[in-house]
Amino acid sequence: MKRALVCGAGGFIGGHLVQKLKREGYWVRGVDITPHEFAPTQADEFLLQDLRELENCRRALTVPGGAFDEVYQLAADMGGMGFISVAECEVLHNNALINIHMTHTAAETGVARYFFSSSVCIYRDMQPDEPPVTEDDAIPANPDNEYGWEKLYAERVAMAYGRRYPMQVRIARFENCYGPEGTWTGGREKAPAALCRKIAEADDGGTIEVWGDGTAIRVFTYVEDLVDGIVALMRSDLDGPVNLGSEERATVADLVQTVIEASGKRMTVKYVPGPVGVHARNFSKARIASLGWKPRVSLREGIARTYLWIEAQVMAAQS
Ligand code: NAD
Repeated sequence: MKRALVCGAGGFIGGHLVQKLKREGYWVRGVDITPHEFAPTQADEFLLQDLRELENCRRALTVPGGAFDEVYQLAADMGGMGFISVAECEVLHNNALINIHMTHTAAETGVARYFFSSSVCIYRDMQPDEPPVTEDDAIPANPDNEYGWEKLYAERVAMAYGRRYPMQVRIARFENCYGPEGTWTGGREKAPAALCRKIAEADDGGTIEVWGDGTAIRVFTYVEDLVDGIVALMRSDLDGPVNLGSEERATVADLVQTVIEASGKRMTVKYVPGPVGVHARNFSKARIASLGWKPRVSLREGIARTYLWIEAQVMAAQS
């Protein structure tokens, strides 16, 4: 039986990844500094460890009878723009420690395949009408925020260890991921979850506030599609970073409208100043498409599923 370690298994994407690996028949160990908030873990083993500490990385990576076949590194101190914009020091400090120790220890332990979850935040800002940029266009680098700079550094750490050790390194640069069983309140939630919460909490005919002016362009990827892409990439021979996200570009105004439709409510939208991030995103998906991966869930369908889940959380919190 193949064995996988999922770091960040208490989080949104890590939790979904554990479920996918279990469905595939893997023996899975999850590790996180906190347990999963919304669903009991389906991992065979779950370790509560702070992966900023080298010793804890060693503990997480030690299994009887040899090393893990696959290690997925998704642990990170992160959140939406509201969090990233005020927690620069925590993001740089905590995530660099996690990635330095995990990559080093995985290589030394003899892990066969190592996956690192990077982000399209490593790219510079773009104009709405710019043609797609490819993975190589990340350099010369000018990320919009410190979260992106740390991801770029961690990519390079992972690639250097992949050159020195017999460890296959795979890196995906995720576009915004959304879906059920993710953070939906408390300040770390990302735009799709925040909008679902605000609209679920609002009365029919009410008003919601949205940061920015609605024109920022993003790609939103449903979590099940994303974890399918992670696993396809991990088992491929695609070296170097790979953009991973849907082809469906949407403005924030489009996203707001999609959530309103999912809710069935009549809403007034008031745009207010707030941390928005870059103007536009447009990335080539040719590398990930070369593996035959393509997203199956449209924004409309994915938001409908996400809205239902967040609405249920809101109702449970209010009762
Ligand atoms: P998440 O916050 O839900 O999950 C991250 C997990 O890491 C959390 O459960 C957290 O407790 C854990 N963690 C933080 N510090 C830790 C530590 N010191 N030791 C052990 N565990 C620790 O985030 P997510 O949305 O599931 O993201 C997973 C990965 O994907 C992250 O690396 C993130 O940067 C990356 N990513 C996510 C998105 C997105 O849209 N969600 C986009 C781009 C990249």
